[in-house]
Amino acid sequence: QSQELSQVQIDYQAALQTLLEDGTRMVCTGRMHTDRLCRFQSLCYSTEAEEFIYFHSNASVMLPNLGSRRFQPALLDLSSVEDHNTQYFNFVELPAAALKFMPKPVFVPDVALIANRFNPDNLMHVFHDDLLPIYYTMQQFSDLGAEARLFFMEGWSEGAHFDLYKLLSNKQPLLREQLKTLGRLLCFTKSYVGLSKITTWYQYGFVQPQGPKANILVSGNEIRQFTKFLMQKLNVSLEESSGEEYIVVFSRTINRLILNEAELILALAQEFQMKTITVSLEEHSFSDIVRLISNASMLVSMHGAQLVTSLFLPRGAAVVELFPYAINPEHYTPYKTLATLPGMDLQYVAWQNTAREDTVTYPDRPWDQGGIAHLDKAEQERIMRSTEVPRHLCCRNPEWLFRAYQDTKVDIPALLQVIRQAVKSKPGPRKQKWAGGLYPGKVRDAKCQASVQGTSEAKLSVSWQIPWNLKYLKVREVKYEVWIQEQGENTYMPYILSHQNHTFSENIKPFTIYLVWIRCIFNKNLLGPFADVLLCST
Ligand code: UDP
Repeated sequence: QSQELSQVQIDYQAALQTLLEDGTRMVCTGRMHTDRLCRFQSLCYSTEAEEFIYFHSNASVMLPNLGSRRFQPALLDLSSVEDHNTQYFNFVELPAAALKFMPKPVFVPDVALIANRFNPDNLMHVFHDDLLPIYYTMQQFSDLGAEARLFFMEGWSEGAHFDLYKLLSNKQPLLREQLKTLGRLLCFTKSYVGLSKITTWYQYGFVQPQGPKANILVSGNEIRQFTKFLMQKLNVSLEESSGEEYIVVFSRTINRLILNEAELILALAQEFQMKTITVSLEEHSFSDIVRLISNASMLVSMHGAQLVTSLFLPRGAAVVELFPYAINPEHYTPYKTLATLPGMDLQYVAWQNTAREDTVTYPDRPWDQGGIAHLDKAEQERIMRSTEVPRHLCCRNPEWLFRAYQDTKVDIPALLQVIRQAVKSKPGPRKQKWAGGLYPGKVRDAKCQASVQGTSEAKLSVSWQIPWNLKYLKVREVKYEVWIQEQGENTYMPYILSHQNHTFSENIKPFTIYLVWIRCIFNKNLLGPFADVLLCST
């Protein structure tokens, strides 16, 4: 990977002239700072002021032009974590003429993606906040290709997983600190600022207790496209499991330990008649971990960031997440949410230690490793007595940290019982079965015909044609839902029908106008769109 910027030869004088004449041009997508991504020509950055600079000229463009709303609270989020006040992006404005009095600009010829990593030392954050969003931001803009360069502005050093970030493009990513070595005034010829949040599935609890995002927009299909890309870059082949089925126990070696891990491994091997191996971030390379997990039938681990590697599991595999004493699995679901995304096709099981005698606490550790010695005595005692951590906000709740960093002796018979109950079919790699998720189109040529019998009875015959896409599909079950609403009423009568026509006579009044809504449903839960409403007069 090339470290130096000036790979592409640029005509310095011409570039400077363009900057002076055209200034900065910015066009963004998104209506709010939380969903905005901006493309710039000639966005500059002062490494001394540590500020981005927008140069005004007669030809500059700023869309949206928000005026001072640009500071309420910011133009956009630089990281994929929504509306976090340490992750905002903005620029300061100058007239292009000010360039005469400034350091000579150094031009960045590569197309740049400028963003913040959120927590590059934590593997869950690395994948969820950074790698997936960067990958799909690059997919969104076609000039962010393999030759694009990533600029990380959050100010961290490389961090524990920098090699993973390097896989996203052919150019070495640059960190904020490194920009100083390039010059005092950098000008990005073409850049994109911000990250797409479209793939994120979890919110970490900054404004409300942590949990799945309200509106998840990613399915297992896109996650698996990303993992396929990463595996190619890691030289891990996606060959179908050649041999034996096996279980992976992902162990932590520093804290939140499984105290009877050896016993657990033996028990799993015996119960499922599968070889059982352990991996850890301390003892295995990341590619070895991916190689092992991508063919495993089951992944067993304590709650923790290492469980994000379940995104490499094959379809059909099981994720078994172990929770320490007093930690309610329902309150901490980043890995459950991942495993149960539509199309991930993973089985998920949570087990919690409910036996106080099987937990080992560390009240005397530093606060960030769960120690509580710094709290007053009454609070320490309350925490010690508590049987469940109440819901809380991120990130420094001492009771949560205290419980999260306990070690656990796993009650093996109880765990096996939970796995047996939850893992329905035999866990294990499964061939693609990605037929799930094709929706019907609208029904076509809907018609109605009314007939009146006497002054109090009427019938309504409604017919329609199958959705256009059905003739190309093999669908297990096709049903139609019909709603009949009397004009002006708020309520309607719903019907589920198997055929393409039906005569309604119940509750149909003569000399009345009805609105008829029809949609097709595949396999019970794939609801199609309603066709244009039919107006039927009896
Ligand atoms: N970690 C690890 N082994 C350990 C403890 C932590 O590999 O014994 C890793 C963990 O997977 C994560 C990072 O170190 O990537 C930070 O761990 P922490 O406990 O702070 O976060 P959590 O796992 O609870 O998200």
